Amino acid sequence: MNRAHKIFLLSALMAMTSITPAQPIPRPEPLYAIFSEMVATRTVHPEGDNTALVNSVAARLRAAGFNESDISVIVPPGGAKKGNLIARLKGTGEKKPLLLLAHIDVVDARKEDWSDGLDPFKLTEKDGYYYGRGVLDDKAMAAIFVANLIRLRAENFKPRRDIILALTADEEGGSHNGVAYLLKNHRSLIDAEFAINEGGGGTFRNGRAFAQNVQVSEKIYLSFDFETTHAGGHSSVPVRDNAIYDLAAALTRLGGHDFPVRLNFVTRLNFNRLAAVEDGSIGDAMLALARNEASVEQMKSISAIPRYNSLLRTTCVATRLEAGHADNALPQRAKATVNCRLLPGEQPEFIANELQKLAGPSVKVTPRGMPNASEPSDAQSATFKIIAKVSESLWPGVPVIPEMSAGATDGSRLRNDGIPTFGTSGIFVEFGEVRIHGRDERVPVKSLYEGQEYLYQLTKALAME
Ligand SMILES: [Zn+2]
Repeated sequence: MNRAHKIFLLSALMAMTSITPAQPIPRPEPLYAIFSEMVATRTVHPEGDNTALVNSVAARLRAAGFNESDISVIVPPGGAKKGNLIARLKGTGEKKPLLLLAHIDVVDARKEDWSDGLDPFKLTEKDGYYYGRGVLDDKAMAAIFVANLIRLRAENFKPRRDIILALTADEEGGSHNGVAYLLKNHRSLIDAEFAINEGGGGTFRNGRAFAQNVQVSEKIYLSFDFETTHAGGHSSVPVRDNAIYDLAAALTRLGGHDFPVRLNFVTRLNFNRLAAVEDGSIGDAMLALARNEASVEQMKSISAIPRYNSLLRTTCVATRLEAGHADNALPQRAKATVNCRLLPGEQPEFIANELQKLAGPSVKVTPRGMPNASEPSDAQSATFKIIAKVSESLWPGVPVIPEMSAGATDGSRLRNDGIPTFGTSGIFVEFGEVRIHGRDERVPVKSLYEGQEYLYQLTKALAME
């Protein structure tokens, strides 16, 4: 394809506002081939083979002209299938490298749980979407990074800093987290001035680009056990005091509880910028909130939207339950898992105390492990400004919003280890659509290709900065 043709196609792509394009979008290679191979490789914990997938990517990079010395497949001891790939596009070395990080493991999915005609481990194009496990989380970015690196290599691009690609294992679960392993054992291979990772992305409202979210911070994952025990007995002679009732009452109190609202620098900026594009009363409420002037009614209206509520406060929710040992016995033990997402800076002891107060004296509350807190990346840094500039050149008028994500990513591990990390994909999905980890995960076809162009331009801009 010549350059003029390419630019024409790209601008035609960007101009489209509906999810379902009138004409089928041509499949750019090698992205499509890499993406479909990634989706077809069932990289689930524990049996999925990440190593096979990274070996295949390594072969593509060799074929594209990368030197053997610039490609490493790192397999941790005891995790033969948990391989990670590190590849390097060499620059002049004037500046410290840029790291592009994507995890290639996925949450499992069963064909019978998905809609007819879809197979989670076969990339399927339907009605303007690509369907498959990992098409958003996180194989889109993984495939895009590989395709873009191949393109930059073909163009003989000489950046001022090395561009390092890391495709890693066990972000979703398992005991061989690639980022943790690499930081501990191969720090120099991924050492960088800053990193681009998952955790951010664009949102559509009714098919129109509405906001570009850039993750600079994330909430902290911490689970608690709620446990109650009782002497038990024969169920034909019940007593009022009952382990299941005690636990159920504690969980009902938890269900009705809200932790205090605490805005931080990132969420305040987030609500302030969202206020400009959110319409009507919710926009006004956000503006008032950002100024600490929100009324009780305004707080209620923002809290009623689960996604916004998760930005306002620490949340804790019951996710698992087990109790009793026989149908005909009084329960001796009842236990629940309560999963919390702490605001950065929230004291775990405070949350533990609050939970114990809610649970009451008959239920014992115990935290599981210590939380992995991390400082936010700077939303006013030169890196953030470049992200905003590249986004604004592709999506004029769409605000670029620094975000604290409610979910956890490997970004916190990098931030904790001194590598500022920005979650941005340029991939737009409809506001409120959450299918990752669930059924019929999908990405709009045009969003994938626009994301590729965005990440290509962003990588170049950051590598030349
Ligand atoms: Zn992910």
